Amino acid sequence: MPRKANGRADKHRDEDRMPGEAPESNAHAANGQPTANGMPMTAAPAAGTDMSSGGSPAADMAGGGSPAANMSGGTPSGLGMSGGGSPAGAGMSGGGTAGGAGMSGATGDGRAETPSRRQCGVMDVHRRLLSTSPEYAAARSALETATIDYVSRQERFTGIARIPVVVHVVWNTSAQNISQAQIDSQIDVLNRDYRATNPDTSIVPGVFSGLIADAQVEFFLATQDPNGNPTNGVTRTQTSVATFTTDDKVKATATGGIDPWPTNKYLNIWVCQLGGGLLGYAQFPGGPAATDGVVILHSGFGTNGTAAAPFDLGRTTTHEVGHFFNLLHIWGDDGSGCSGSDECADTPNAAGPNFGVPTFPHVTCSNGPNGDLFYDYMDYTDDRGMVMFTNDQVTRMQATIDTVRKDLPVFDTARATPEPAGSVVSWGANRLDAFVLGTDLAMYHKWWDGSAWGPSVAGYEYQGGICMSAPEVASWAPNRLDAFVLGTDRALYHKWWDGASWNGYEYLGGICMSPPRLATWGPDRLDAFVLGTDRALYHKWWDGSSWNGYEYLGGICMSPPEVVAWGPDRLDAFVLGTDNAVYHKWWDGSSWNGYEYLGGVCASPPRVVAWGPNRLDMFVIGTDSALYHKWWDGSAWNGWEYMGGICTTAPTVVSWGSDRLDVFLLGTDSALYHKWWDGSAWGPSLTGYEYMGGICTDEPRVVSWDTNRLDVFVTGTDKQLYHKWWDGSAWGPSVTGYEALGGVISDFKVTIPESPAAIGQGVGI
Ligand SMILES: [Zn+2]
Repeated sequence: MPRKANGRADKHRDEDRMPGEAPESNAHAANGQPTANGMPMTAAPAAGTDMSSGGSPAADMAGGGSPAANMSGGTPSGLGMSGGGSPAGAGMSGGGTAGGAGMSGATGDGRAETPSRRQCGVMDVHRRLLSTSPEYAAARSALETATIDYVSRQERFTGIARIPVVVHVVWNTSAQNISQAQIDSQIDVLNRDYRATNPDTSIVPGVFSGLIADAQVEFFLATQDPNGNPTNGVTRTQTSVATFTTDDKVKATATGGIDPWPTNKYLNIWVCQLGGGLLGYAQFPGGPAATDGVVILHSGFGTNGTAAAPFDLGRTTTHEVGHFFNLLHIWGDDGSGCSGSDECADTPNAAGPNFGVPTFPHVTCSNGPNGDLFYDYMDYTDDRGMVMFTNDQVTRMQATIDTVRKDLPVFDTARATPEPAGSVVSWGANRLDAFVLGTDLAMYHKWWDGSAWGPSVAGYEYQGGICMSAPEVASWAPNRLDAFVLGTDRALYHKWWDGASWNGYEYLGGICMSPPRLATWGPDRLDAFVLGTDRALYHKWWDGSSWNGYEYLGGICMSPPEVVAWGPDRLDAFVLGTDNAVYHKWWDGSSWNGYEYLGGVCASPPRVVAWGPNRLDMFVIGTDSALYHKWWDGSAWNGWEYMGGICTTAPTVVSWGSDRLDVFLLGTDSALYHKWWDGSAWGPSLTGYEYMGGICTDEPRVVSWDTNRLDVFVTGTDKQLYHKWWDGSAWGPSVTGYEALGGVISDFKVTIPESPAAIGQGVGI
């Protein structure tokens, strides 16, 4: 219970302005009166007045010839979601399990010739190039000097370097023509390993755990080919060559492989059959452009399909890409001696490679008591034994990315997937902006700047208006906020922070029967979705210079729209149809597709999150009040997966990193509950939930401003805003405690007067 759990019920009320504070507290009138004019929304217009002025609306949104048939067709109600074997009353605190196929990958054939221990060909290539190319020797020497300089200046790049990848599948047997799912699984592994979000770092002993470092590098399959055309980032080439080796023949069309894409702009990964027990090889930076990249044995690539134990966790590619970014083997490649170095001060001097999964400690080269750091990706252990890079390794890689590979990365202002819109958003590290409605239905704002709450812990900035929907805020760049609400005329209004001041409210027309849902897929781009009076979906967008729409998207929708953007010029919209099944419509960059029927009989609006390009995870509450999950893996929909619980609100879902999901719900006791997907399993279990205390009166709002960071906001029974946070290792102020943030909040999500209850509130909740 937010209020009493902390005993903070009476703390506040003396600071600044609170939403909906009674007139006597307008000692703070300097901020403007709730009824101040100059705001389009306070006019309380005669119905229809505003609407006709905007040149838009009523007509636009009511007409359209929308076929009800589009969305209600062909679905037997009752299918899919009401099953699952949930014992009513089991509640959300349990850890029991139920059916559910789970997300673990399948296995396939093509496992012949799987090496039994790791062997990497990077030094073969290195020695060959040293002996044949004076330019290579000079480039290696220059890079080492630059790296030492970089390290001595203690430089690090800021933000995340995103690396475009092209995977060249070169196959001789059909089994070697690996699936898209196997390729996707490898990209996922790279994104976990290079952000240190892989859960198996748990195997690292405490004496080494402080060395684990986030490389701040992410990878994505290229979306543009060298000619600027759309691509899926994969090439497929049939070859007559049965087996390749370190001679680089796979890297040229003329020798049975395929030429690289420009190696300064793409990380080229060739996947093929390698002989001689070779798992893969790389070319260090400084080598010939025509052969730059890494080569991986298909059965050591990704985590499904032909991937075979003990090299079926994708770590061969993590290792080889480490070489590509100038990392050396951790023992220094001097055979079994103690004189070689990997040029990293924080990796213990080690004699030779470690194989299999060694037992800690393994002492060599007088490196006791802790011994070799065989948990490192740059050793030779099995996939399940290598789980980390160190701080100095990360610095070496970053030096490479900032110098010889500086044309390769794309630095995003934000992260891999666009920041979702909502009542609480973050436009940068350690930054939070929360928007609420006061009891006067004006909008109020408070923010965390990294060190303190503004305008004060319990205070709020008054933003005016009389709002008929919870603030929906998008941020497409640092220090930029775009807030959307409905006015009393049910038209859409827009207010924005341009980095220096607030602007608006701007009138955007329409007669909306749902709260607006916003998405942004790039700089200066906003996409708003609402339901019209005909319950069809409508779309309005800001293209950087003007507003467009409303565009009619059809349907008869029984829930507010859910919209996500997982990449540039990509939108995915979800609604419930009249059968309470989920329907999906998507913009692919050139046209709208759908509605696609996704089944289910839902008792809540769908909630969807994208943790990376071409990934969608959808959550709904079923008619049994349990949570259900369905996901798009890049090539197909999976699920429904039954996740237990007796839920009294729609789920709130966020993702702070690749293959990471966090779901928050209220239980029948109005407490907050949490579950999470860590990339391999659901915690605390498939159908179990973490109890987080509180007595909450509205859906939680959750935002993440960085890897392994969550900020949760709820409303208490006293209508104050409450906050709790995950800092990467623990919940603050405690697992069941909350920070009181003042205010008397009308609601996060306001229902729309006179609208069908099902529209504003979701169905059946
Ligand atoms: Zn190697």
